[in-house]
Amino acid sequence: MTGSRYEYVKNFELPDPILPGTFMVLRIDGRAFHRLSSEHGFVKPNDERALELMDHAARDVMNEFKDIVLAFGESDEYSFLFRKSTSLYNRRHSKILTTVTSLFTSSYVYNWSRYLPNIALKYPPTFDGRIVVYPSPKEVRDYFAWRQADTHINNLYNAVFWALVQQGGETTANAHSILRGTVSSQKHEILHSRFGINYNSISARFRKGSVFVRERVQPVSVVPLEGYSGQNKAYKDVSDRATSEGILLPQKGKKVKLRFTVLLYHCDIIGDVFWDQRPNILQ
Ligand code: ATP
Ligand code: ATP
Ligand code: MG
Ligand code: MG
Ligand code: MG
Ligand code: MG
Repeated sequence: MTGSRYEYVKNFELPDPILPGTFMVLRIDGRAFHRLSSEHGFVKPNDERALELMDHAARDVMNEFKDIVLAFGESDEYSFLFRKSTSLYNRRHSKILTTVTSLFTSSYVYNWSRYLPNIALKYPPTFDGRIVVYPSPKEVRDYFAWRQADTHINNLYNAVFWALVQQGGETTANAHSILRGTVSSQKHEILHSRFGINYNSISARFRKGSVFVRERVQPVSVVPLEGYSGQNKAYKDVSDRATSEGILLPQKGKKVKLRFTVLLYHCDIIGDVFWDQRPNILQ
């Protein structure tokens, strides 16, 4: 098929490939969520429902794009790590960035009423997105450590700030000035002595953020083959039930496959343990 005489304009579209063999980290961040959270009455400092909605959108992204091997979320942001060798959309930068950002955003809106059922959305939320390319596992680990350290710093500050305001009756201006110049140990001390709060007893979701990984899991249970054959009705009934419950049935001569599932943790990703247990993430 020959094109029209207008088709030359297509040549102005320049390729935007991402360097092969590098780690891509795609981060989305809510646009003006300070305003969005206050206009929709999010609980301060951490609205758990809103965080669960973010997690839901991130899980949808991971279920759609199997080359994402790790995701980390906090507040209004999520970072997604692609496997080094991904060839998703031929590694076209804008195609990957816009599709993932768009899916995340539409899932956030699509599922809003499930998590915040009594809060009508006043306007369409927006997320920005960027892709940063890292050359080696060291930078990838440091990237995720940077984000989780940020979670910790923000959450500790916010925990004390909102305790001072909500329980201590301080004005927000006073709370800011009380906290100005304080180091971490002093913040723990204010929380403990003034409000009887042990920082470590605060929900891990708030302190550590959300971590999604893909892991092989055993099928829930395996129905024994004895007494059944592919032809008889009993086998068919069991087989139908198993399918509807996501259980894998063993078949003659075939091994039961382990299934990859996206799992959510609120764990440390700064130390070595997380990475040592999952060497495939950085391969
Ligand atoms: P920008 O458009 O530059 O990202 P922003 O207003 O979104 O601006 P951020 O630095 O991204 O600023 O911070 C997000 C803000 O959204 C937080 O400071 C917090 O006030 C609010 N927020 C996000 N998630 C929650 C939540 N689950 N509960 C309470 N507040 C939240
Ligand atoms: P890609 O992800 O590469 O864009 P695609 O399936 O979206 O793949 P497009 O070339 O963008 O392919 O074409 C969009 C297709 O969507 C059209 O070919 C048509 O089949 C369908 N479509 C879009 N809008 C309408 C509409 N209003 N009514 C009927 N069909 C539509
Ligand atoms: Mg910002
Ligand atoms: Mg934001
Ligand atoms: Mg943010
Ligand atoms: Mg299309």
